[in-house]
Amino acid sequence: MMNRTLAQADHEIAKIMAQELDRQKTTLMLIPSENYASRAVMEAMGSIFTNKYAEGYPKRRYYNGCEAYDALEQLAIDRAKDIFRCEHANVQVHTGSQANMAAFYCLLEKGDRILGMSVAHGGHLTHGLDRNFSGYFYEAHAYGLNPETDRLDYDGIMEVAKQVRPKLIIAGASAYPRIIDFQRFREIAEEVGAFLMADIAHIVGLVAAGSHPDPVPYCDIVTSTTHKTLRGPRGALILCPERLADRLDRAVFPGVQAGPLMQIIAAKAVAFKEAQEFGFREYQRQIIRNAQSLAQSLLEEDFTLVTGGTDNHLMLVDLRNKGITGREAANLLEAAGMCCNKNLIPGDPASPAETSGIRPGTPAVTTRGMKEPEMQLIGKWIARVIHDGRKEDGTPNETVIAEVRDQVAQLCEAFPIYEDLI
Ligand code: PLP
Repeated sequence: MMNRTLAQADHEIAKIMAQELDRQKTTLMLIPSENYASRAVMEAMGSIFTNKYAEGYPKRRYYNGCEAYDALEQLAIDRAKDIFRCEHANVQVHTGSQANMAAFYCLLEKGDRILGMSVAHGGHLTHGLDRNFSGYFYEAHAYGLNPETDRLDYDGIMEVAKQVRPKLIIAGASAYPRIIDFQRFREIAEEVGAFLMADIAHIVGLVAAGSHPDPVPYCDIVTSTTHKTLRGPRGALILCPERLADRLDRAVFPGVQAGPLMQIIAAKAVAFKEAQEFGFREYQRQIIRNAQSLAQSLLEEDFTLVTGGTDNHLMLVDLRNKGITGREAANLLEAAGMCCNKNLIPGDPASPAETSGIRPGTPAVTTRGMKEPEMQLIGKWIARVIHDGRKEDGTPNETVIAEVRDQVAQLCEAFPIYEDLI
């Protein structure tokens, strides 16, 4: 039983995996929170490090036999501190949501007031949505975007902060295409005596590479995922100054978790090493150039972009002038081999299940080596599908969909991924 391959042990899962590999190879991953982890990252994830309990931290474990785990976790910590130029890093948290939970647990008491970006305007569930732990255990208040510009309105946030007097302000978003001014957020936090936390789950790779302003000098805590622009394993990390290090580590363990996923921490270490390499900065710069090129191509096709463009890895397309909802558009695009996600636009009249927008992004296609010319093609194909991909009765126009899907497959073949995996 111990030596069988996956195909030998479980042909059903092996078959599903083969089909998914085919999907990843032959379609375009345009969801901005997704990416292709490297083979080295995946090798660490699927390794013997999964076999060990290592509760605690390097040199302070509750289990014996942790020498290798101390070494790998310390490497991950040191590399994270180097990449993000910070005093302390906790690399144990399993997900971005759990990282935020740990950050709150570190800084707040139950019932404290928090102020985060409204989910309807691009914030994340964990920034205070009522059905999330963040809205359930804390008194959550929200700031939004300026209705004229759809950009963060720092004067407006200052006003809300003065009214709410939160103990914690959260800067960061899941669907905001512009630069976030963390220095301004710090000024607001100082003014009202609040802690400041940045959740850089989306823009983390850009921050690491110096392509987005750095939150670390301005924040008490910075949380992030490791699987989006950072291109590591599905996971998270938390950064803070030395003064909060012990408190934060205790908030993670034993606060919100017991045994760390050591195989994932090993994979995070590998991803951090990749982020220290020269090509990573260029990769992040190309993500932005690609997003701007895709945005320009969509504008030429008469699409409306929230804020008119992008400074980062994603854009928010307002589809209201196209007579199609975000859900319908994402389904049509998927059928044509371009996997996008539907997304609320600021002030969206549609429900979160329907939405009026989509949120294309470029981290994954950039990993495949695509550049501006390919973004121009993708923009044209998105337009073709949205404009001509439905018949008058609303059913998919299979001819158009098949034609685009074929072109997408050819492009994917020209920019292969995971060639040596089966
Ligand atoms: N924070 C932000 C800003 C996010 O966009 C996300 C995920 O999309 C998260 C936190 C949560 O990460 P996870 O899905 O790993 O819990």
